[in-house]
Amino acid sequence: MAAWYLLAWLGCALMVPHALGAVSAADAQVGPVLQLDERVVGSLVGEHLRYLEDPAGTLTLDQVQAMPTRFVQSTSAALNFSFTTSTYWFHLRLENHHAAQRDWLLEAAYPLIDHYTFYVLENGQLVDTTVAGRTFPFHQRAIKNRNIVYPLTLLPGQGKEIYIRVQTSSSLQLPLRMWTPLAFHVKDHDEQVIQGIYYGILLSMLAYNFLIFLSIREISYLNYVHFIGSSILFLVSLSGFGFEYLWPESTRWAMTAQPVLISFTLVGMLNFSRSFLSLDKLMPRAASLVRITAYLMLALTVAPFVLPYAMALKLAVAGALVSALIVLTCGGISLASGARQARYFMLAWTVLLLGISLYALKTFGLVPSNLLTEYAMQIGSAMEAVLLSFALAHRMAILKEENERIQQEAQYQLEQRVAQRTQELDDALHQLSAANAALQEKNRMDGLTGTKNRRFFDEQLATEVKRSSRAQLALTLLLIDIDHFKQVNDRYGHLAGDACLRAVARAVHGCLQRPSDELARYGGEEFAALLPHTDHVGGLQMAERIRAAMAALTFDYEGQSIPVTVSIGCATTVPTRNYVCDKLIAAADGALYEAKRSGRNRVVGIDIAVAE
Ligand code: GH3
Ligand code: MG
Ligand code: MG
Repeated sequence: MAAWYLLAWLGCALMVPHALGAVSAADAQVGPVLQLDERVVGSLVGEHLRYLEDPAGTLTLDQVQAMPTRFVQSTSAALNFSFTTSTYWFHLRLENHHAAQRDWLLEAAYPLIDHYTFYVLENGQLVDTTVAGRTFPFHQRAIKNRNIVYPLTLLPGQGKEIYIRVQTSSSLQLPLRMWTPLAFHVKDHDEQVIQGIYYGILLSMLAYNFLIFLSIREISYLNYVHFIGSSILFLVSLSGFGFEYLWPESTRWAMTAQPVLISFTLVGMLNFSRSFLSLDKLMPRAASLVRITAYLMLALTVAPFVLPYAMALKLAVAGALVSALIVLTCGGISLASGARQARYFMLAWTVLLLGISLYALKTFGLVPSNLLTEYAMQIGSAMEAVLLSFALAHRMAILKEENERIQQEAQYQLEQRVAQRTQELDDALHQLSAANAALQEKNRMDGLTGTKNRRFFDEQLATEVKRSSRAQLALTLLLIDIDHFKQVNDRYGHLAGDACLRAVARAVHGCLQRPSDELARYGGEEFAALLPHTDHVGGLQMAERIRAAMAALTFDYEGQSIPVTVSIGCATTVPTRNYVCDKLIAAADGALYEAKRSGRNRVVGIDIAVAE
């Protein structure tokens, strides 16, 4: 902000044509007299001035008085000689046409002049010599104002001659105005209010953002405070308020403040832009450039202590130009690449540039001078400060949003991963339970014949006994034993025996009809068939059918026909509560034994209910 302000200020200082006319024939010797009446109040009186350049700065009042022809008539309302090592003498003649005594104030509205000497002459006699400027402590000023104000009293009809000797290291400008004390008071009053509002806005932005920095410790806020804070200091040094209120006795500082403060402000501006636009993260090379420039600007802050003021100021202005270019380019690139925080950042700079442009247009007379154009730079810079502060808040909102989005994404990914892991775990469990089920199934199977095994039979028997006892239904058990099986083994070999066992199992299984009927290999060549809900008559029928099927079966093994018969013990019961399974087995076993004993290839049954 200060950089732009300075550029505009310096641009005006350098570019406004001097518009200094040639020596006017009529007034060559004495110059036009300024009639002090209401019309001149508050207006620039430059066109009534004659000036003389004193390159060596050695001339005295007597000497310049003695060379009236060397004075040049000014045709510019506000004189401006830019940077010059020469001393300038100005000559002004005043006259009070009024019948009353009048007090007047002569205001030099440019506070950066090092050294003024006012010489006042009445009737060719020197009556007053007053020195002023920033090389003198503030308290020495006759009228305590940020500008140099020289009081004059003119009696009715009286004329006065004023010579002003001006020597300065800053740019040499002399915007002189005549005021009545009342008019000056009104103007100064209004100006103070406007400046008060202006600095009030800047200071409140400063305090507000500093408090936010203390609260959230985000470096962008500190950089903003640095930037705006040093801008304020630069602006008060430029306007003379700094010398009036902040460092009234520090003439040395008053002579160096501007270039120091410009460079220091640029450090803040560069750092602010770097952190605000997240250049370190988003544009690392631009960030390095900005950082290096900031270091250079920091180094420039000591230049005014070792270099002449004008040179230090020119260096600072060059620095401001470069820095502003870098910052605007970075902002523009950020904006183009879609960084949302760059919007208000660029808007803030645009508003400031508009203000400066408006002020420049006013200076060149292209737009009318009014309150808006006169204070366009202040309005622009105050709006810039407010917009940048808003941009900071907006940026925090964006960062927060981004953070939340990242968190949500992380959460989503976590959930996805958990879901995936859960699925994998589920699958593994499924496989495990399937394997377990398969294992259990295998555990219940007989490896040789493919029927259920003894373990299954025992469990099934217990289950069916309970079920039948609850429903009071008959349960039949068949124990089936192959006759003379040893001989099969002996005669045809064990492999044939095994094959025979498989064939018998298959055949017996084929005889069972109900889904609830279960066949199991009970022992070596013995099978057990459990027939729930089957009474003794039915059980005997089943046994007989099996026996007959076996008797009819001729088992072929490697071309040899092997006859197989079975004996079957059939036991039926309607189990009571707490029935002991072994009783049924024992009964069936007894019946089987009986079948064997009575000649084999037959069925013997025992109905326990009846038997008991
Ligand atoms: P019976 O029952 O008619 O009195 O005469 P058996 O020859 O069948 O007599 P026993 O029941 O005592 O003999 C059973 C024979 O069954 C004994 C064994 O050689 C044979 N055996 C038992 N398990 C298997 C087996 O898994 N494979 C083969 N090949 N033979 C078996
Ligand atoms: Mg046997
Ligand atoms: Mg047998």
